[in-house]
Amino acid sequence: MSALAVEHKSINLGQGFPDTDGPHDVVRAAADMLWDGRNQYPPMPGVPELRRAVAAANRRFYGLDVDWTTEVTITSGATEAITACLMAVLDPGDEVVLIEPIYDTYVPVVRMLGAIPRIVRLAPPHWDLPREALAAAFGPRTKAILFNSPMNPCGKVFSAEELDFIAGLVLRHDTYAICDEVYEHLVFTGSKHVPLMPLPGMRDRTMRIGSAGKTFSLTGWKVGYVTAGQALTPLVQKAHQNLTFTTPPNLQRAVALGLAKDDAYFASLAASLQVRRDQMTEGLASVGMTVLPSAATYFITVDFSPLAFDGDDLAFCRHITERAGVTAIPVSAFYEQGDAPRHYARFAFCKQPAVLEEAISRLRRHFRG
Ligand code: PMP
Repeated sequence: MSALAVEHKSINLGQGFPDTDGPHDVVRAAADMLWDGRNQYPPMPGVPELRRAVAAANRRFYGLDVDWTTEVTITSGATEAITACLMAVLDPGDEVVLIEPIYDTYVPVVRMLGAIPRIVRLAPPHWDLPREALAAAFGPRTKAILFNSPMNPCGKVFSAEELDFIAGLVLRHDTYAICDEVYEHLVFTGSKHVPLMPLPGMRDRTMRIGSAGKTFSLTGWKVGYVTAGQALTPLVQKAHQNLTFTTPPNLQRAVALGLAKDDAYFASLAASLQVRRDQMTEGLASVGMTVLPSAATYFITVDFSPLAFDGDDLAFCRHITERAGVTAIPVSAFYEQGDAPRHYARFAFCKQPAVLEEAISRLRRHFRG
């Protein structure tokens, strides 16, 4: 969709990346830090400053006591972290429980490692966790569950009850949980991100993944972090050692400063996105689409069937790119199994308000004349 957006000079609300840089002081620090002579390989698990900062953030936001020397690994983005965590625990033939709509890399990496995805489906418009299906997906060969909360693409934040249910299954089946929490700080009023890791019995079974790309609106930096217990961390680090070994030291050190920012920073990050979520909710509704609630992330999903468009979600996203000059992503792209819902599209709202306004007026002009 991004290639098509470029071809048609369309406003790209497909791929999720902000169109303004993250905090100036963090970027400035990264630039300055290139000049102080620490440009050779940093320690494989990550620079001490950032590992300390990740441990401190775990305590500050979730009350988790984390030993930065033995329980934190810095990776090249959450993307590497996901692969490293899967490599840490999977053997060929193991099963991994996944939840669709599903983030791009999960299934290919599980398959690449010779493991078998067992996929449980959430369906729009409510994206409720189907507990029976989830319980049925766990079996004697299950090694782990991997999921993201807050969840891309549907903007769902898993409830405390849903997480309790997942924790119960993880314990009962003696498995691991890989928790992709890259949107942990992009949660809107009325919802709260609760990690799985502090729940009873989960501390040593969970690998918790964060991303500086999302937390500091610097998606190109690719600095991720894994928090895991002392038994799992060496396995994650063995994988990380053979995947990338490390990630640029100046970026790691600058992210450490970012994680120590005051509460006002984290509140304003979420608040400014919430304003844009509201702008898109109102705007897309004014075009005539049914807008699903988004409690978190960069994304909002619409049901475009009220527009009586003749075609599926892929055709719709092509159509609006080519004819209206606005690009979105077909939600069926996030489904592995054939009979995916076909009348939903995902829009990213992590763009400047003027860009969103222009996108809405283009869509309004196109559909409403
Ligand atoms: N997990 C999810 C759910 C994501 O949406 C993304 C980014 N789109 C990532 C992981 C990857 O994060 P990073 O850029 O830090 O590799």
